[in-house]
Amino acid sequence: MARKTRNTRQKGIIEGRLEDFDSFFTAEELLANARKKSKKIGIATIYRFLKEAENEGKLHSYLCGRRRVYSMEESSHCHFTCSKCGRSGHFRLKDISSIRASVEGKICHFQLDVTGVCGKCLLPRKH
Ligand SMILES: [Zn+2]
Ligand SMILES: [Zn+2]
Ligand SMILES: [Zn+2]
Repeated sequence: MARKTRNTRQKGIIEGRLEDFDSFFTAEELLANARKKSKKIGIATIYRFLKEAENEGKLHSYLCGRRRVYSMEESSHCHFTCSKCGRSGHFRLKDISSIRASVEGKICHFQLDVTGVCGKCLLPRKH
């Protein structure tokens, strides 16, 4: 019984910390933030919380390189990678209506990996 109360309290603390992130965050970042409030919170609790929140549809998760990132707000995560210089960055998709129209059903979240040539590599080379 006491254990259950403690877990509920920790869950409340973690839930409150979510507001500090307006974009993507990792489990480690959430842990560091939650530990400012309670030193007793460990990474296992964070992972359990994230899994639960994801199942409930409160959070969306994405693979960013080799890291997993989470977001409450963003329902898409987009990468652009330059095939010439290998640089990769994020971009925001402003209009997802065409993706919505292409899917039969309701979209929860998605991620995109776009490859091309970046603006810097497109510029004529100076000699
Ligand atoms: Zn989702
Ligand atoms: Zn990413
Ligand atoms: Zn480039």
